[in-house]
Amino acid sequence: MNTIIAQYDNDHRDADLMRRAAQILREGGLVAFPTETVYGLGGDALNPEASARIYAAKGRPSDNPLIVHIADMEALKVLAREIPEKAYRLADHFWPGPLTMILKKTEIVPVQTTGGLDTVAIRMPSHPTAYELIRTSGLYLAAPSANTSGRPSPTEAEHVRQDLDGRIDMIIDSGRVDIGLESTIVDLSGDEPMILRPGYITKAMLEEVIGPVKIDPGLLSGSEDPHMRPKAPGMKYRHYAPKGSLSIVEGKRDAVAETINRLTKEHEEAGHRTAVIASEENQDLYTCERVIDIGSRDHEESIAANLYEVLRQMDEDQIDYIYSESFAGAGLGAAIMNRLLKAAGHKVIRV
Ligand code: AMP
Ligand code: MG
Repeated sequence: MNTIIAQYDNDHRDADLMRRAAQILREGGLVAFPTETVYGLGGDALNPEASARIYAAKGRPSDNPLIVHIADMEALKVLAREIPEKAYRLADHFWPGPLTMILKKTEIVPVQTTGGLDTVAIRMPSHPTAYELIRTSGLYLAAPSANTSGRPSPTEAEHVRQDLDGRIDMIIDSGRVDIGLESTIVDLSGDEPMILRPGYITKAMLEEVIGPVKIDPGLLSGSEDPHMRPKAPGMKYRHYAPKGSLSIVEGKRDAVAETINRLTKEHEEAGHRTAVIASEENQDLYTCERVIDIGSRDHEESIAANLYEVLRQMDEDQIDYIYSESFAGAGLGAAIMNRLLKAAGHKVIRV
């Protein structure tokens, strides 16, 4: 399959291109497009064949459900039933934006889209290209991250091309995304709201609007215990992992630097390609030949925005051993560390 790659500039909108993309989607084809979180791989959420194509293109396990993207509140009532009042309050505050809600699904949503579940994940993205595409197609778009399953999510169209060229009909390129981490997922289908995946919208932000919110206990452990499995099916899979060995080193600043310098020196002397992922503030502490500045601790957004690109870079540079600082923090830190810990297979060195 020849994948069309097209630039779409929101200041000079190309209506013909948008109509072409919408037509592909209506015929059951796949179009990758930017959202404010990461690039998504879109298909008609109500067409089981389109969903099947999404799973095939990504190599995604079919029990890992897709998030359905909408552009207006009417869509919510078409796709979900028994919608609690808290869902409306959250929508009011955070939509359009990087929040996904899990709700009980209506009959209209095929189980192929929900990975066999009786619930559906719904989000209203704020990116203008995403909005235009949903509107022009007149569809609800199932859109998981537009990467090969297991790889870091794409934050620019080039990442999508690297993973999915020849496997999908079109890639719409509107430049780099803004946030760079996937949406926060909150489950509102049970008795108590629960975060199934941390993201840009933090626990504190949600609680300000709807009161107490739990965090899925399965998120915190890297354990193999089936009772501690994360509730979002996708969160149980190995994800984002670079080909080399990635470890996170946690502790006081100087002790972390000392440990990383000792370990990287050993690897370099043994002839291995080695790299350190460090904050802008700390990069001068390291003696390793490759030190990657991932962003500033005073501006966690910059770390989030660079994370996936840095992980992809590690593979491109064929790095064997990677050591990263920890970026745990009050705000976005939870979301950053959730992804980084998964990428590291929960390998943490505490010093
Ligand atoms: P992605 O679209 O690649 O960001 O992945 C979507 C994430 O949402 C995965 O971790 C899914 O397991 C999760 N998800 C989607 N639908 C549901 C659902 N109905 N219940 C729980 N988790 C869901
Ligand atoms: Mg994904």
